[in-house]
Amino acid sequence: MPPHPTPTPTPTIAGVHIDTRHWINGRRSESASGETFPDLSPIDNTELAQISRGGKPEAHAAVAAAKAAFPAWAATPPPARARILHAIADGVEKRLEELAQVETADNGALVRSHRRGVMPRVAHNFRFFADWLTNNLSHPDFDTKTHTEVHSNTRRNHVSWDPAGPCVLITPWNAPLMMESWKVAPALAAGNTVVLKPAEWSPLTASLLADIAAEAGLPAGVLNVVQGYGAEAGQALVEHPDVRRISFTGSVPTAQHIATAAAANLTPTSLELGGKSPLLVLDDADLDLAVELAVEQYDNAGQVCLAGTRLLVHESIEAEFTQRFIGRASNLTQGDPRDTATDIGPNIHARQLEKIDGFVQRAVAAGATAVIGGGPNTDLNERLGGLYYRPTLLTGLGQDAEAVQEEIFGPVLTLQTFSSDDEAIALANGTRFGLAATVVSGDRAHADRIAARLVAGTVWVNCFYVRDLRAPFGGSRRSGVGREGGTWSFDFYCDLKNTVTAQQTFTAQQTFTTQQTSTTQESGSDHG
Ligand code: NAD
Repeated sequence: MPPHPTPTPTPTIAGVHIDTRHWINGRRSESASGETFPDLSPIDNTELAQISRGGKPEAHAAVAAAKAAFPAWAATPPPARARILHAIADGVEKRLEELAQVETADNGALVRSHRRGVMPRVAHNFRFFADWLTNNLSHPDFDTKTHTEVHSNTRRNHVSWDPAGPCVLITPWNAPLMMESWKVAPALAAGNTVVLKPAEWSPLTASLLADIAAEAGLPAGVLNVVQGYGAEAGQALVEHPDVRRISFTGSVPTAQHIATAAAANLTPTSLELGGKSPLLVLDDADLDLAVELAVEQYDNAGQVCLAGTRLLVHESIEAEFTQRFIGRASNLTQGDPRDTATDIGPNIHARQLEKIDGFVQRAVAAGATAVIGGGPNTDLNERLGGLYYRPTLLTGLGQDAEAVQEEIFGPVLTLQTFSSDDEAIALANGTRFGLAATVVSGDRAHADRIAARLVAGTVWVNCFYVRDLRAPFGGSRRSGVGREGGTWSFDFYCDLKNTVTAQQTFTAQQTFTTQQTSTTQESGSDHG
C-alpha cells in the first residue's frame, strides 16, 4: 500500500475529535514511515479516518516506554493505582455517549447496546479490578481471606502477587473497548505497564481511552497505544523479548501465530479465541424462553465469540420451536445501528460479508436449507453501502458439515435435532471448540446433568451472556488457553512469589505480621 499523504490527526467522528496517531510515552506520534491506513465505517462503508500504520519502530518505542515506566508504576501504592483506575472509569462514564457513538460508527454494533450495556461495562471493568486490588490483593486481611499464608513451626510461606512487567494486549474488532478494558484494567491494577494494539478495523475508541487515561492522571508510558495491522505492529510487539505478558483475544489462526512468536521468549500468553457454541433446547424447556434466547444469538449481527450458533433441539419439540423461531426472527429490524429501533446492524467489513456468504452458499450447495435469510440484505445494501446480511437459519446439516464445525462470525445459526441426552452431548461437544454453551430446560436436575457433561469455559442455564466479573472466563480446546476474570486475571498478570522465612532466626519483634507485609507494599518497592 503506498504511503498516504499527511494524515488528518484529529478527524471528527460522530461529533468527537479523535487523534488517530499512536500514543507512546504520553505523546501522540505518527509512524516513522509516515504511512497510514483507512478506517471504514460498516454502517455505509465510507472512510472515517486515516490511522497511523505502526510497525517495528513504533512497537519497539512503545515497549521501551512501558519498560521505563514500569518500576515507578509497580511501586505506586495499590490505593493510588486504584484511584487512577476509578478516575478512568469516571472519564468513561463522563464520555459515555461519545464513546457509544464513535464505537457504533467504527464497528457497526448497535448504539443502544453501547449506551445501555457495553460502555457502562467498560467503566465497571476499571472499577471492578481497582476494587479487587484494594479489597483483596493489598488488603491487610488478604492473607487470612485467601489462605495464602502457610505457617509451619519454623518457616513461614508468604505468597505475593508481584507485578510482571510490560504487557502486550491485542484485541479484536467485535467489541473493541469492552475487550480492551477487560485486559487493560487488570494489567494496570496488577502494577504492570501496557502496550495496547487495537484491531485495525476498529481502532478509534482505543485512541479515546488513551486520552481518558491521561486525563485521569495515568503517568506517561504506563499505557501506550500502537495502531496498525496485526502482521506488522502486532507481530513486532509479540516478538519483543522485553514483553512479560501477552493477552490476546481473536481468532485461532492468529493465536497460533502469536503462541509461536511468544514461544521464542517463553512469554506467558493468555488466549481468548473463537467458538462454535451449542444452545441446547431440552424437551422440558419453556419454548418462549428458548426462542428468545435463540434469537438473541443474532446480537451484534452474529459477531459474538460466545454466540450459541448451533441450535440443538429435542426432536419432539423441533417443529413447534422452528415455527416460533421463524416468527420471532422475522420481526427483527435490520438497519442503521445508530437507529435505536434497529435490532441487527451491519457486519464489519466487505471481506467478512463475503466470508459469511461463502459459508452459507457452500452449505446450501451441499444440501442444507436456509429456512430464513440465506444471503445479503440487498434492499438495505443498496441504500446503505453494502454490509448487511440477513439473519439466517440453516437446517438439514450433518455434524461434519463445514457450517456446523467452523466459526462463521455472522448472523448465521444452524439447527440440528437430537433424541436423547447422550446424542445431545455428542453433538454439543462435537467440534474443536469449547468456549460456551447454553442449556434451556424446565427441570433443574436435568439441566445440571447436561451442564456437567459439556466441554465449555462457560455454561449458561436458562440465560445467556450474563457475566460476573469474579468468575473465570476463557475457553477450552481451540477456544483458548488460560482464564481471566477475578483472581484468575491477577494470576495471569502477576508473578506469584513465595517468600519462605525461617522464623526462628528472628526475634519475636522482627517476625513479620500480615499488617506489616501490607504496609511494606503500600510504601512501595522496586519491582524492576
Ligand atoms: P484476528 O485474529 O484476525 O485479529 C485479532 C487481533 O490480532 C487484531 O488486533 C489483529 O490486528 C491482531 N493480529 C493479527 N495478526 C497478528 C499477528 N501476527 N501478531 C499479532 N497480532 C496480530 O481476529 P478478529 O477477526 O479481529 O476477531 C474475531 C475473532 O475473535 C473471532 O474468532 C472471535 O470468536 C474471537 N473473539 C474471541 C473472544 C473471546 O473472548 N474468546 C471475544 C471476542 C472475539
